[in-house]
Amino acid sequence: MKLIIKILLKYIPRKYLIRFSFAFSGLFSLFYVGKKHHCPVCGGHFRTFLPYGYSDEKAENRLCPRCLSLERHRLIWLYLKNETSFFSEPLKMLHIAPEQSFYTRFKKIKTLIYHTGDLESPLAQFHFDIHQMPFGDNTYDMVMCNHVLEHVADEPKAGREILRVLKPGGQAILQVPINENFEKTFEDPSITEPKDRTKYFGQYDHVRWHGKDYAQRLRSYGFDVKEVQYTDQFTAEDIEKMRLTREKVIFVATKP
Ligand SMILES: [Zn+2]
Repeated sequence: MKLIIKILLKYIPRKYLIRFSFAFSGLFSLFYVGKKHHCPVCGGHFRTFLPYGYSDEKAENRLCPRCLSLERHRLIWLYLKNETSFFSEPLKMLHIAPEQSFYTRFKKIKTLIYHTGDLESPLAQFHFDIHQMPFGDNTYDMVMCNHVLEHVADEPKAGREILRVLKPGGQAILQVPINENFEKTFEDPSITEPKDRTKYFGQYDHVRWHGKDYAQRLRSYGFDVKEVQYTDQFTAEDIEKMRLTREKVIFVATKP
């Protein structure tokens, strides 16, 4: 089974994979029912999560077999649920590169005006380039844009676009993979070969690897940034049960 998933992830284009996984994940998750792990996003209990990752690095026990959440989605979900009024407050939200574990649930929130956007994802309602978004200034109370800014050509431009479409006081959640060994973000536009990008940026289609200066970079685009060390709120037992192990900080960027 693990091998089948690995092959699917590797060879099927993402847009077809999204449709496939959407249709079959519910049924498929029955194979994994158990007590050891819990997914707070879909409420499921499983004996294991699924492996996930593009490269050959060992990446066991990451993906929820029912809702396809990863560690970061479970952590963000818990944060929104426990620490904010996201699920009950009237809000207008733009979700860029919408993750399907969130998408199906966010669109059911009665108080949320929910817009989704992406270059090409079939899940998205608007198709656009993040460097130039087709929305007016001060439009959204919230923007969610996870694991996108490590792919974009011009991060300052994309960052300022997100800031522009947010209302004053509006908040963005802008997760990226952080390399804890890097004091400064590493980017070099001359590195274009997929194998070199994997080597220098951590994945074949990334164009930078963010370091400990990420919050500072967001501040330079005009945001106030709170680095919420949210994993620290949980016991070691809960961290393992829900597999919250990878991204420990949530970057909450507010438009002043
Ligand atoms: Zn789940």
